[in-house]
Amino acid sequence: MGKTKRIVKCDVCKNMIEIDQYGNSNACANCGWLQSEESYQHPNIPGIRNIPSLNNAIKQYNNGVSTTLANFNDFIETYNNYGEVEFTLNNTRYGVLYDDDNKKIALLNIQANEKQLFNDIHDFKQNAKINGKLLKDLWDNVTATDFLQET
Ligand SMILES: [Zn+2]
Repeated sequence: MGKTKRIVKCDVCKNMIEIDQYGNSNACANCGWLQSEESYQHPNIPGIRNIPSLNNAIKQYNNGVSTTLANFNDFIETYNNYGEVEFTLNNTRYGVLYDDDNKKIALLNIQANEKQLFNDIHDFKQNAKINGKLLKDLWDNVTATDFLQET
């Protein structure tokens, strides 16, 4: 009957958005945030429906940064909690996922289908390199982050 839909304010930008009976919205037309009751209850936890935590998304919005672009720590924590994430750097998409065959974490260049393996997420965080530079130092140049989409 449509009674389950409600209009509320986006938790990030206060734009009016429509949520379903679970408190979830489509991407906010103004800021891109995916509204989530769970994010609201756990504003410091990244990776719930968006990779940034709610509190970081609010900070980013207030600084003119995309609400869907995760900082490196939120990105790593999302991998830890939920697995299978991706980022875009220099117009190239990279996936981070568990490699079952090797029992290691894989950094996959999705376009080139090349992968590097890491022993664990700490190893990845400290040592992952792209074109000879540490990923953690390159992170400011990342232009998109997401849960891993179809490769
Ligand atoms: Zn919004």
